[in-house]
Amino acid sequence: MSDNSTRERLLDVRRRIEAACQKADKSPEAVTLLAVSKTKPMSQLTEAYQAGQRHFGENYAQEAVEKQQTAAFEAAQWHFIGPLQSNKSRGIAESMDWVHTVDRRKIAQRLNDQRPKNLPPLNVLIQVNISGDPAKSGVSPNEIHALADIIADCPNLSLRGLMTITANGLDEPALRAQFTELKNLQLALIKQHSTCTECSMGMSRDFELAIECGATMVRVGSDIFGQRTPKQ
Ligand SMILES: *Cc1c(COP(=O)(O)O)cnc(C)c1O
Repeated sequence: MSDNSTRERLLDVRRRIEAACQKADKSPEAVTLLAVSKTKPMSQLTEAYQAGQRHFGENYAQEAVEKQQTAAFEAAQWHFIGPLQSNKSRGIAESMDWVHTVDRRKIAQRLNDQRPKNLPPLNVLIQVNISGDPAKSGVSPNEIHALADIIADCPNLSLRGLMTITANGLDEPALRAQFTELKNLQLALIKQHSTCTECSMGMSRDFELAIECGATMVRVGSDIFGQRTPKQ
């Protein structure tokens, strides 16, 4: 890991977001930064929180729930951004503020049934498989509307937009095409579902390009917290 602190790297990412917003003629408030803290220790999350970071993204259900419970970050919002298995949905429904990876009816219904009534509706994004790679999760673009209608009928869920994960190793024109496609799908969806203001796309390697293409949420891990060692 570099010897920069989490705080310094976070501030640097914020500056890069501001520059990308300026270049794209957007207000910096138009983009929410998710600090993706999977595998990283609470000491680093606390450092980020103390530097003003409010949105945290986690990928592994058990780790997400444990961190949300131990953190006691009063003003934080927790985003689940990993693949979600049915048998892990309860902890997510009970502890997260957002889920970015809803890609089937069954998961939507479980999250709706398991969301505690004393909490506000769980914000959800539909994950879209833009590249069409069969190894990737997410619905295909032509399945978005059917799933959106199901989620919109769930009183304990609030449908907020779309999310995608691009493949590794794409060149800039290919990335730009995929980001633009997700943005256009979100703009089509908002006509039917007015709450769908969010477009979650872009990671450390490409968040500036994602902002240029219309991202409203970028998910940045290693550029804030340092490289991860692969999970065993
Ligand atoms: C890990 C992860 C990120 C962050 O990736 P970095 O390259 O570390 O910025 C973003 N989105 C998802 C879905 C992830 O799993």
